Amino acid sequence: MSEDFYEISLGNFDTETRRRSNLDPVLFWDEQAKKLSWFNQWTKTLEWNSPFAKWFIGGKINASYNTLDVHQTTRAKKPAILWEGEDGTNRTITYADLYRDVCKFANVLKSLGVKKGDRVTIYLPMVPELPVAMLACARIGAIHTVVFSGFSATSLRDRIDDSKSKVIVTADVGYRRGNSVNLKEIIDDAINELNFVEHVVVLKRTEVSLLLGTKDKLWHELMRDSSEECEPEQLESTHPLFILYTSGTTGKPKGVLHGTGGYLTHLNSTFQWAFDIKDSDIFFCTADIGWVTGHSYVVYGPLLHGATEIMYEGVPDYPSMSRIWDIIQRYGVTIFYTTPTALRMFMKFGDSIPNSFKLSSLRLLGTVGEPINPEVWRWYFKTIGKSKCPIVDTWWQTETGGMMLSPLPGLETIPLKPGSATRPIPGTDITVVDEQGNELPSNTKGYLVIRKPWPGMLLTLWGDDEKYKNVYWSKFENNYYSGDYAIKDSDGYFWLLGRADDILKVAGHRIGTAELENSLVSHGDIAEAAVCGIPDEIKGEVIVAFVVLKQNAKKIGSILRTELIETIRNGIGPIATPQQIYFVTKLPKTRSGKIMRRVLKAIASNEKIGDVSTLEDGSAVKDVQDAFTELERTVRENKS
Ligand code: ATP
Ligand code: MG
Repeated sequence: MSEDFYEISLGNFDTETRRRSNLDPVLFWDEQAKKLSWFNQWTKTLEWNSPFAKWFIGGKINASYNTLDVHQTTRAKKPAILWEGEDGTNRTITYADLYRDVCKFANVLKSLGVKKGDRVTIYLPMVPELPVAMLACARIGAIHTVVFSGFSATSLRDRIDDSKSKVIVTADVGYRRGNSVNLKEIIDDAINELNFVEHVVVLKRTEVSLLLGTKDKLWHELMRDSSEECEPEQLESTHPLFILYTSGTTGKPKGVLHGTGGYLTHLNSTFQWAFDIKDSDIFFCTADIGWVTGHSYVVYGPLLHGATEIMYEGVPDYPSMSRIWDIIQRYGVTIFYTTPTALRMFMKFGDSIPNSFKLSSLRLLGTVGEPINPEVWRWYFKTIGKSKCPIVDTWWQTETGGMMLSPLPGLETIPLKPGSATRPIPGTDITVVDEQGNELPSNTKGYLVIRKPWPGMLLTLWGDDEKYKNVYWSKFENNYYSGDYAIKDSDGYFWLLGRADDILKVAGHRIGTAELENSLVSHGDIAEAAVCGIPDEIKGEVIVAFVVLKQNAKKIGSILRTELIETIRNGIGPIATPQQIYFVTKLPKTRSGKIMRRVLKAIASNEKIGDVSTLEDGSAVKDVQDAFTELERTVRENKS
């Protein structure tokens, strides 16, 4: 754990919110929910039939009403989305535009027979029509299920089949790193033999004519004839808003089901607390809407607040490593929210690229998705934030709906420690427990659990209450099991140490992957690191590490290997010495940008790799395999 801390205040010192949340969390969320517009007041704030929670029972609400209708008198002309295509094309979508298009598309869905509770799969790239389609579903009470547009036909088919969507929304093509991807072909492949699919709505992005099948309809033709008026459905607070499949870092993705009133309440409050949102801000979250960060903090959070945000179609390093900094400079971005993976990549290429842009509009930075290495945190703070922006390291999951641990500079001012997600958000009860579920004293490693229901929590796993109970509620009685390994320090700050499944057990010690990886990344030549344990006849388990070098790395080979081992011995202790360190050019990651340690483990233990449907780049696996084989050969030769 790093020792340094940083205190940057945005001028907010609200202690009353924390105080009230501690007095009575349920009453506290009741008060928070009142910040939204309801058609009907609820009669009961929370019904907790463990492990199923129902928030704001009897309340009637609509997500599209709260993100659009409420802004029409004051913000109609305000840009909601400043869209930038991968090829540099721009579009400005105001709150009035978004409202009109959502109403029209809601009518389109109705005309296709979509009813309240029906599922609609959305397989679109990062274009404004994606939030339009989601909000249109929300308007009529249909359940959207967005599938990241980088997935193959097989992964897509599994998700469509699981949700039994009768309508699919897609585009003719998507663009990724300058290549056009034929999305329509992938859809055709995916729905072949899925007879329950009745219609496929296709958004045309190119002039190339399409051969339309019997189920296919064109977006622009349907929209042309559609009415601009569509009353929002008055939905039960617990009515499902969406199904979203998890990233699949640890295995097969799970179909997480979220409700409406609780989810919106959670987002509305956390978006304000963490990002200190003001009407004048330009918010930029780099997540793809295909992941939960995109759902919660590209679509619902910002739009609930009537914010102006950037929506960028492409990947952060295309056409060059300066793309993101260029966007921040051109649009005057004030709040920037990204991932540790992206930051490690930027850092790998050095300071000169960000330093050649004017980033002075930034006032708040955020990160999500993986533990952020303290070294990377400091770089983000100094090089990007120029030591004046607080960083919100936000821990949460698809299942939690919104942030659970995070600094909240929009609410209060606390010292920030690089690598710590700091404290639980108000109104939640989060702690660290041992294998038996007993709360651990501070500075002791264990499992991160949530002890009380919170409004953004998932309703269940789609169509599988049993799996929901097994995955999250069977390890500990009445405590939500997050699957993450953590420590709470003596100031009550949380440090995420990696996935519980990935814990390394070496000679009786339990070490989180993040601890070791942070140590490796603290070496000036290392851009990224991933560690895993492999079975060993004598020690039970030994540690192996995979590292990616920085562009300008000064040392290589055995000299660097020796230095890295020294770094770990000094930083953590001799027991954590890796048995082997492999140099690779890339690490296997999910399409949401997280390291897949189980793939590394499988390679290093000569085992089957398992489900890799969410793997970003198959060549990373080969890269790791090659590095592994090469080093094993050298070791064998040296021995003989
Ligand atoms: P699956 O559950 O299918 O393996 P996933 O867990 O990667 O997929 P998400 O819900 O997108 O799917 O990711 C949530 C996980 O991401 C958390 O459980 C945690 O491991 C990690 N995470 C998210 N934010 C942070 C953070 N700020 N610090 C540390 N870890 C984080
Ligand atoms: Mg998970």
